[in-house]
Amino acid sequence: MSNLDQWKNKTVEELINRPKVELSPQEMERRQIYSSLLFAITAYYFNGNKYGDNNNYPLNPKNLKSDSYLGHNIAALAVNKHGEVIDFEFNHNRLFSSSVEHAESRLIRRVFSLTQVHNSWKDDAQDLPKKYGNLLSEVSVYTTLESCTQCTGIMTLGDVKNVIYLQDDAGMYHIGNIVKNLTDGQGFIEAPLPISGIEIEFDLYDELNDAFIQFKTQQRSKEGLPFVVFPNGEEKYTSSITSFLCTKEAYNIFKKGLDKLEGFELNYADFQPNEKAMSNKEVLEECVSFYAYATSMGKRGTPHRM
Ligand SMILES: [Zn+2]
Repeated sequence: MSNLDQWKNKTVEELINRPKVELSPQEMERRQIYSSLLFAITAYYFNGNKYGDNNNYPLNPKNLKSDSYLGHNIAALAVNKHGEVIDFEFNHNRLFSSSVEHAESRLIRRVFSLTQVHNSWKDDAQDLPKKYGNLLSEVSVYTTLESCTQCTGIMTLGDVKNVIYLQDDAGMYHIGNIVKNLTDGQGFIEAPLPISGIEIEFDLYDELNDAFIQFKTQQRSKEGLPFVVFPNGEEKYTSSITSFLCTKEAYNIFKKGLDKLEGFELNYADFQPNEKAMSNKEVLEECVSFYAYATSMGKRGTPHRM
C-alpha cells in the first residue's frame, strides 16, 4: 500500500508535523559537537557583501577575511556512521550564478563522487553497500539552515539517514517533514529523518532563530539601519533570511561555534552509539582536527578548488 493512502484524510497540519525525535543526552552531546564544528566553519568562511563590494553594509561584521560574495552563508557537513567527518560544503549560488548551488545538494554530489575511490571513511569492507543507491544510507548531514525542496529531494534520493538542521526556514514549508511523513517506512526512497537544533538542545539554534525574527521586524519597520546603502545613497531594507545571514548578529552566533568547539566540556566522553563507532571524545578530536583542515587546506568548499 502506498503511504499516500494513509494521508488522504489527514490535515495539512498533520502532514507538516513530526513527532519529537527523542535522543539520549549522550547522543545530543555528540550532535552538538558536529553542530559546533559546522558553525565554526561557517564563521570562518563568512562573506557578507551580498549586493557587491562597492556598497556599504551597515549591519555586517567588519574586517572579514574575505568580503567578496560567493554564495549565502549556509553550510553543510556529512558524517559517516563511525563518526568521521566526510566533508563540508557551502552554498555557492553567486559563484555559479545559479539558484540551485545549495550546500546540501553540492555536498551529496561530492560525497557520491568520494565513494568512487577506495577511502578509509567508507564502511568496513564486509558491510559495504552493494548499490550506489544505498551508499549513503548511514550518512548524517548537518546543515546550518532547514533544507529546501531541492536538497530534501537530493538527500532522499541519496538515501541519507538523517538531517540535523540548525535554523528554521519558514520559507521552505517544512518540506523535510512532509517528505519524511510521506515516505516513512516505505523501505525504499525514504527521506532522511529531520532533526532540529531544539531536539539536540543546541542553544545556538534558538539564538539564530530569535536573531532572525528581530532582524525581520527591524527591516520591515524600516526603523534603524538599512541592510545596504548603494553608492548613490539609495537604501535597501530586506527581511530575507539570506540577508540576515550576512549580518553581524548571525556572524557572532556562528562564531560561538568555535568557542564551543574549543572549550567543549564532555559529559559522556566514552559514549559510542555502536561498538565500531568513535567515542564522543574521539568525535571532539575529529572535529577539532577537521576544523584545522577545513580552514587551512580548504577554501569555502572542498575539493577546495572552486
Ligand atoms: Zn537547498
